[in-house]
Amino acid sequence: MRVLVVGGAGYIGSHMVRALLEEKYDTVVFDNLSTGYREFVPERVPFIRGDLRNVPDIQGVFRDHSIDAVMHFAASSIVPESMSDPLKYYHNNVLACINLLKVMMENKVAKFIFSSTAAVYGEPENIPIKEEDKTCPTNTYGRSKLMIENILSDISRAYDFSYIALRYFNAAGAHPAGEIGEKHNPETHLIPNILKTARGEKSELMIFGDDYPTPDGTCIRDFIHVQDLCHAHLLALKALKDGKKNDIFNLGSGSGYSVKEVVRTVEEVTGKKIKVKIVPRRAGDPAKLVAGAEMAKKILGWKPNANLEEIIGTAWVWECKS
Ligand code: UDP
Repeated sequence: MRVLVVGGAGYIGSHMVRALLEEKYDTVVFDNLSTGYREFVPERVPFIRGDLRNVPDIQGVFRDHSIDAVMHFAASSIVPESMSDPLKYYHNNVLACINLLKVMMENKVAKFIFSSTAAVYGEPENIPIKEEDKTCPTNTYGRSKLMIENILSDISRAYDFSYIALRYFNAAGAHPAGEIGEKHNPETHLIPNILKTARGEKSELMIFGDDYPTPDGTCIRDFIHVQDLCHAHLLALKALKDGKKNDIFNLGSGSGYSVKEVVRTVEEVTGKKIKVKIVPRRAGDPAKLVAGAEMAKKILGWKPNANLEEIIGTAWVWECKS
């Protein structure tokens, strides 16, 4: 089986390519390298530099390679940027994905795994959040992903098409071999920013708000190791191969940590003191996102392995190398 990994040069996509290769899948990577890195893709994997906003680029891939399934990681994913530049998000995340889906239909490729997000829930009514809970995003990023979930549901009713949407909570950590990891420019995510402060690359960590309705006032997130996420994708692919029609799963650990707790854990893992500065809230941040991941366990047989210390430990090894 040959899997097209769209966004395979990016953070999660490049980990996925390695996971697929380990399981002996043929893999093709398509990426515009806007946020990905060519060197993150192993030499032996066919790599096409192309843009989903340009339909002939996508058609070329399906013409030149026989594709059986698509995993779609390519997207803009920075919450505050989605608030200041919503059109970028609708263009990159919605329009681009529709182009991909249309070319898949033209080529009768019927299996799709979609990188969705916990941001589709918005400010949740219940913690842990279940897949059937209300979706009401507080930011454009989450809305753009929810739009695609709805599109997937519509097209799966109309055509021969099956999909699994995976709602990631906070992906973090790095490949244990230390060759790839989280690398964004600029870096906006919490764990890499704390680690950059630990290394002295940043003088202090800005904490965006300590007046949230949480025990210490900082936001609570559910961190999941990128390797655990990739494992869930392998199980989702197997489910589609075995005839599963459609589904949506949360991918999180079920444990929430506040921003301040994450800072403390980084101090423990690295042995470095982190200087923090409390600044105003960031636009679009929900106070608390913690996954109920029972469905992924029950239906896919998935269980995350890495705890927060292990996530930070692998990210620290990567950060010190990069
Ligand atoms: N955050 C922070 N300082 C940073 C980066 C993030 O205080 O330098 C906070 C952010 O406001 C949010 C949480 O950490 O409450 C997780 O943010 P991140 O961007 O890592 O992921 P998101 O939950 O937005 O996908």
